Amino acid sequence: MKCSCGKEAVYYRRNEGNFYCKACFCDQFEKKVKKHIRQGNLVAPGDAIAVALSGGKDSSTALYLMAKTFSKRKDVRIFALTIDEGIKGYRNRSLENAKALAKSLGVEHHVVSFKRVFGMSLDGIIRKLGRTPLKSGLGGACTWCGVFRRYALNKSARELGATKVCTGHNLDDEAQTFLINCLKGDTNKLFRSNSQIPSRKQQKTGFVQRIKPLRLIPEKEIALYAMLGGINNYWGECPYASGMRFEVRDFLNTLETNHPGIKFGLVEAFDSILSHAAAGKNVEESEILACESCGEPSSSKKCKACTLVDFIRK
Ligand code: SF4
Ligand code: ZN
Repeated sequence: MKCSCGKEAVYYRRNEGNFYCKACFCDQFEKKVKKHIRQGNLVAPGDAIAVALSGGKDSSTALYLMAKTFSKRKDVRIFALTIDEGIKGYRNRSLENAKALAKSLGVEHHVVSFKRVFGMSLDGIIRKLGRTPLKSGLGGACTWCGVFRRYALNKSARELGATKVCTGHNLDDEAQTFLINCLKGDTNKLFRSNSQIPSRKQQKTGFVQRIKPLRLIPEKEIALYAMLGGINNYWGECPYASGMRFEVRDFLNTLETNHPGIKFGLVEAFDSILSHAAAGKNVEESEILACESCGEPSSSKKCKACTLVDFIRK
């Protein structure tokens, strides 16, 4: 199949029905990310941005694009920060990729280990607690890892003078997080999870604002962009990966296959709820009209029942 420019296509975006060649795909990808940064005012003059770099495709792409976009700006400092959880056979390999990428981009790179911050690697913690399901009652490996990583990332970034932390969260991550928080009924976390807009309380307590320039890009498009652009990254999977997030991931992937665009829908709903909540407004109700054909209540000029009846009678 061909791209609209006439070249051979490398990608088909199902929810749009469009084909893209390599050049058009990469060009559009970069434009989308830049637009998201601009519209959300994610970067301001004077910012020092710590890009959380694990060495995987998402964070590597985030660093690559942030460096590409801002490295010539004198008023913005970009540096990479890797949290080494201490997962043998996994993080040590991705760390090699992270180091190589930062070096090739000429970006300053800091590595902070769990061992240095907490006195113990994740491997050590898991050994002590017993493997999944952990008997501590405090969640599985990913819960512990996530809590410690966010802590180490925020603290180290702040100590290194960062005004913002940039993460490689993608559309899939955002949709999963929203759904997980809904499923758990955790509205507190739900409202905190878009930390691109930190609350006043967060700002006061030493929380470094997060920015997520890739949050509207599907995971598979990031994988393709990284591959087409030859961005050095590690594809291995963590040996401790388990828990609800992975079930939700598989569930959403099945839904997305059958109903292209549902991940966008979830994230749009999330953003809309958050912006209404931030403005202290209730979700706006659409006006109720009387159907012009039958007079019954309707949200449009002609009610849905009359539209369907008209269609079948034609
Ligand atoms: Fe940590 Fe879980 Fe990610 Fe592994 S999969 S790095 S344990 S959060
Ligand atoms: Zn093209």
